[in-house]
Amino acid sequence: MCPEGSLTKNNNSSKNINIKIFRRIIQTFFLFLIIFSMIKFDISRAMMSIIILIVLLTTLFFRTVFCGWVCPAGTVFVIIRRIGKIIGKIPFIKPINKIYKKWVKNNIIILNKIDKYARYVKHFFLLWILQAAIFHFVTISRSGGRRIGITTIIYIIILFLGLFIERSLCRYACPLGVVIGLVGKLSPTKIVRDENFCTNCNICSKSCPLNIDVANKKSITDADCNICIKCIDDCPVDGALKLKFTVPLSRKNSKINKAIEKQII
Ligand code: SF4
Ligand code: SF4
Repeated sequence: MCPEGSLTKNNNSSKNINIKIFRRIIQTFFLFLIIFSMIKFDISRAMMSIIILIVLLTTLFFRTVFCGWVCPAGTVFVIIRRIGKIIGKIPFIKPINKIYKKWVKNNIIILNKIDKYARYVKHFFLLWILQAAIFHFVTISRSGGRRIGITTIIYIIILFLGLFIERSLCRYACPLGVVIGLVGKLSPTKIVRDENFCTNCNICSKSCPLNIDVANKKSITDADCNICIKCIDDCPVDGALKLKFTVPLSRKNSKINKAIEKQII
């Protein structure tokens, strides 16, 4: 787990700044859109089903782009992490933050392990929702509010963790993210690392908010990757990391893949 997220700052080209600004505009737009919709409209189950269907169709083409560019909950957690960083810079908190950062550095191996296994928690959330929806085995209403209380406590913890960890909700508690991640594996969109250009500087791995070891992968097929493009933004070598269209689940150098392979960024 790399709670600090990006440890390495990189002054890349204006192209990168434009992508970052573009992404923030889109995220902000959808955040306000969902807030407006919730205030203005009574979102029915049917409407929610249509929204989920659109999300899944988008995922089939563009992998987890919904999580990285659209999801308002993800955007809220980006804001929470920003608030965490601002709090860490308050003069009387600064010394405590320094000790915390040192502690993280000294315990990074064990923290990475905890992070790895804690990510399975969101699978349990998904299973719980599925059994409640399909078999009505343990539903929220039958629990007499007790389970709502437990869920609320878990989400408060996730909110608190969000001050220290990039996108804690996406990492540990988003059941929709699990579905999107799995469906996204069928998508032709993926990030590819070109070993001919890569200098193994490791900047991409350090900058990934989802703590994915980009520098040691040929292509990023992790369900947790939300196509935020931060790794491509921060990579100092042009062409080392690319967002590409490829044939889903095919081998990198297969004939069909070579024919269809198209670079997006
Ligand atoms: S892909 Fe880019 S950032 Fe990542 S290790 Fe290679 S050169 Fe460095
Ligand atoms: S691998 Fe790259 S695109 Fe995926 S989450 Fe990490 S930084 Fe974002």
